[in-house]
Amino acid sequence: MITIGVDDTDSEEGLCTTYLAAVMMERLAGLGEIRGSPRLVRLNPCVQFKTRGNAAIAFSLDTDRPEEAKEVALNALMELSDFSGPNTNPGLVVAEEIPAELSRFYRRALDEVLEIQEAEEIINRYGLWSRSFKNRRGLIGALAAMGAEFEDWTYELLAYREPRRWGTDREIDEESVWRADELTYPGTWDTVDHHHRKVIFAPHSKDPVLFGIRGQDPDLLRSALRTIRSEPPERTVIYRTNQGTDVHINEGEIPDVIENRSYRLRGIVAKEPETIGGGHLFFPLASEDGKGSISCAAFEPTKNFRERVRALAPGDVIEVYGAVKKRTLNIEKMEIVRLTERRAQKAPICPSCHRRMKSAGQGQGYRCRRCGTKADGKVEVLLPREIKPGFYEVPPCARRHLSKPLVRMRNGKVYPSR
Ligand code: ATP
Repeated sequence: MITIGVDDTDSEEGLCTTYLAAVMMERLAGLGEIRGSPRLVRLNPCVQFKTRGNAAIAFSLDTDRPEEAKEVALNALMELSDFSGPNTNPGLVVAEEIPAELSRFYRRALDEVLEIQEAEEIINRYGLWSRSFKNRRGLIGALAAMGAEFEDWTYELLAYREPRRWGTDREIDEESVWRADELTYPGTWDTVDHHHRKVIFAPHSKDPVLFGIRGQDPDLLRSALRTIRSEPPERTVIYRTNQGTDVHINEGEIPDVIENRSYRLRGIVAKEPETIGGGHLFFPLASEDGKGSISCAAFEPTKNFRERVRALAPGDVIEVYGAVKKRTLNIEKMEIVRLTERRAQKAPICPSCHRRMKSAGQGQGYRCRRCGTKADGKVEVLLPREIKPGFYEVPPCARRHLSKPLVRMRNGKVYPSR
């Protein structure tokens, strides 16, 4: 048995590493049998070299012709990589046995920004067969994907377009997509965005992906696929994936956060959320022990989620989940743990008429206009809160690949975005 890892073959202009892997697997089927589901592995979402979602692929092939398999894999990579892309640095690795060290390498690739040299050292140490091009960065993702062991996982069915259609508008009957969603949600998710009345499972770029259906169980993905009317897919592949699992999230403390990592942080809202620039919402979150604070952001693309954030008040205890970039945590979801009591000074209510009294003139207290009852001064009242404790998330159109959707979190009070 051999395991093949591949990454960094596409560019913004076209192609897709998952498509290359799909073609590679088809060609390799003549030399053996693909074992289990191929893996679509998302890595650190903060890595700046990524084209889109920082994905890499690994799969295993049961074969007694490993040398031929390497040649077939390499030929497919040469044919289906966009070498002209300024940021395309393909890497291909084949191993007969996966070194145990790779599972740690995978964990680190989710969390840190690694050096190409580290990948090369591992390849040399274990004498792994590899091919790499340009600055060879793709070796990082290829190795990490091979080492990926999932404690939690989901599936994504990717449908690919016929090459003659690449670059043209995708023909997808949207009504059938809504039907597929209705039939399979919550076993599938992020196919459509209800709040924005939008089908969101298809890219708009020139790449070979027609659409992707995400879900918990391959059978449900197939049944969603059968419902969808579209141009004929050239092929479909179901990947097992770490998407939708929160595997990138570290338990952290506010004073200790490190740039370009993702965390769950507990703290106290320190100031009223404030809108800055093009609709981006920011507020500071202070650690409960008062030893640090971090800026948290709900950016404009998180759309209606910002209303939830806007409902926060200084003193609320919350936990935020997201990636820290430029000393700011980009919120993917939050749990409101405890709401503070908001109080205000208001004119008293008349005990007989149950109406709010009016000022009786400067320094003269308050008086009921109807019955004349008098009161000395203002009273403190509890203001209603427009949000309840529980989990809230960004809408599907703003979801990060690795972020666990609330439909997968049935314990506790959850308010999924639909
Ligand atoms: P697509 O989603 O279309 O496949 P992408 O977003 O996956 O594109 P890539 O083209 O794969 O982007 O580019 C990501 C690059 O970053 C790859 O070279 C990969 O090896 C590298 N990389 C991934 N994780 C890390 C990491 N933690 N540290 C450093 N480099 C990384």
